[in-house]
Amino acid sequence: MKTVQTLTSLHLSHHQRAQLIEHALAAYPFECCGLLLGRVRRGAAVVERVIPAANIAEGDRCKRFQVDWRTLLDAYRLARVEALEVFGSYHSHPEGPVRPSVLDEREALSGHVCVIVGPVLQAEPQCGAWVLSPMGTMTGIDVILSGDSEIATDADHV
Ligand SMILES: [Zn+2]
Repeated sequence: MKTVQTLTSLHLSHHQRAQLIEHALAAYPFECCGLLLGRVRRGAAVVERVIPAANIAEGDRCKRFQVDWRTLLDAYRLARVEALEVFGSYHSHPEGPVRPSVLDEREALSGHVCVIVGPVLQAEPQCGAWVLSPMGTMTGIDVILSGDSEIATDADHV
């Protein structure tokens, strides 16, 4: 059973953000992909673990991705052991733009956070996050960078 709640922000540490960008660079010119595990609290998805996955998409991996199923299963196992949620995934748009493609929107899972990194060769690649709205469109949420492993407990973010 899953609690349906509206996510309004994604909290990443600087280190986790760097991990996503490094993975995107290593995978270039293909899309990289992986899973995000953590906790959801009062609309904030707080990333605890970044799990890189192999992109096993058939066809043009410069334009699409599919997380390999073995990593997916391992991620759910790890989440259960550590009492975390697999609340999202990330992938890169090697040449940009940093917004969900038509395909991303079509394949989005309700309640999951979709994180996109790109353009990969840019000096400062962007990192954006979206969730699927009840209307079936992707809605951007705030990406909040926090100190490593220091998670805000009660303070409300602006
Ligand atoms: Zn995409």
